[in-house]
Amino acid sequence: MMVPEISIVIPVYNEEESLPRLFEELYPVMEKLGRKYEIVFVNDGSKDKSFSMLYDFQKMHPHAVRLIDFNGNFGQHMAIMAAFSHVCGKFIITLDADLQNPPSEIPKLVKKMDEGHDVVGSCRKNRRDPFFRKAASRVVNKITNSITGLQINDYGCMLRGYDRRIIDIIANSNESTTFIPALGQKYAVNPVEIVVEHREREYGMSKYSMFRLIRLNFDLMTSFSLSPLQWVTMSGMGISVLSFLLVAYMLIRRFVIGSEAEGLFTLMAIQFFLTGISIMSLGIIGEYIGRIYKQIQKRPRFVIKKIWEEDIDE
Ligand code: UDP
Ligand code: MG
Repeated sequence: MMVPEISIVIPVYNEEESLPRLFEELYPVMEKLGRKYEIVFVNDGSKDKSFSMLYDFQKMHPHAVRLIDFNGNFGQHMAIMAAFSHVCGKFIITLDADLQNPPSEIPKLVKKMDEGHDVVGSCRKNRRDPFFRKAASRVVNKITNSITGLQINDYGCMLRGYDRRIIDIIANSNESTTFIPALGQKYAVNPVEIVVEHREREYGMSKYSMFRLIRLNFDLMTSFSLSPLQWVTMSGMGISVLSFLLVAYMLIRRFVIGSEAEGLFTLMAIQFFLTGISIMSLGIIGEYIGRIYKQIQKRPRFVIKKIWEEDIDE
């Protein structure tokens, strides 16, 4: 395989319906760019026909396509991580397989990279996703920026470009849970964000359930900041001060007015509130401890079954 200039990285998990159109749209865009390129697909343990379709496509274009086949489902970010350790290009562009990021936007990213930006982020114009996801994302993007201290307008948009230097740093960071766009932004020297088209998912369904999305957001927050832990400490301090004042007031009241008998339900309400805060705080601490546990287990973050590419092909 010739050394490519641009590497396209695409994680694939059960996308048999989208793949034919992806091949159809992506290939001409890349050919038209007129630069040496490679497309690296990662099959993230698909249970449908995705693997055999990717396999056929790789056989059809052995010089341009590489296929990394995972041993199971390790998640979108781990799939991208695996590809990052294998890409050869000078510029690396990630893309979803479901065509929500139109391949025709790739040249825009390449142009920005040519201008010298080491990370090209993107922000979805008229994002076509269910309303509740868009609303939740808006809030999450704001909170995440303030927690992590990064500046990304659209964390969820995976159509992004990275310079070789950034990819090497990301591939060498050995985190067991992570969030690629945030890692890229963290190490970027000269990042830029562009607006890209976004399409509705036409085939298949989103691979993220509500629960999985929440977990992914916890990954993002815990990987990039300790401030949730500091909130726990601060809220504990705040509550201690308030309850001290309350005790002092009750004591004075007892001497001046006499003991108070009413207010049972007020007491219960306060108690429920405090129990809620305690459980939540335990949970936040637990999120970090769980990740420390995963990290020290040092299990492989992903397992590659086989790589299909020109050089090692039979
Ligand atoms: N994906 C993956 N592994 C997973 C989940 C998703 O490789 O466990 C891939 C999926 O095939 C797609 C991309 O990640 O190419 C984004 O997934 P999806 O479109 O479901 O996410 P959404 O657009 O709903 O955020
Ligand atoms: Mg999608």
